[in-house]
Amino acid sequence: MGRSCKEIKKRILEDYPDVKVEQTEDKRSCTEGDTIYLSKEDYEPKKMVDLFNILHEIGHVYTSEKWMPRAEREWRATTWAIFHMKKYGIRIPEWRKKNFQEDIYFLYEFEKAFFNRDMRMKKQNLKLFWNEQESA
Ligand SMILES: [Zn+2]
Repeated sequence: MGRSCKEIKKRILEDYPDVKVEQTEDKRSCTEGDTIYLSKEDYEPKKMVDLFNILHEIGHVYTSEKWMPRAEREWRATTWAIFHMKKYGIRIPEWRKKNFQEDIYFLYEFEKAFFNRDMRMKKQNLKLFWNEQESA
């Protein structure tokens, strides 16, 4: 799958020419403004989930605002990625989908408990809908 993953990555990046791409030594990819910083794994994608991570970072460029709680930013970026993954034939194993959801819920509880933050959204509104998008 290594070679086709590279081709899909190229197609994704061509579709979003405004997004700047850099490589980072960090283990996890991240985004600042309109620049996505991809981990080595995501920069040289070999698995579907690496490609999904690229979409997720692009999702941050289009949906994240600094004032949003982190949990909401992650939910929006992931939802954006879910909406666009079908176009590129990206599929994610069920256990991975669960991980993405758990990470968001964890962040929600963390921010709420430790920063006593007004979360704006209720936890149940941060649910990811994978199946709806896939069958769309
Ligand atoms: Zn993110």
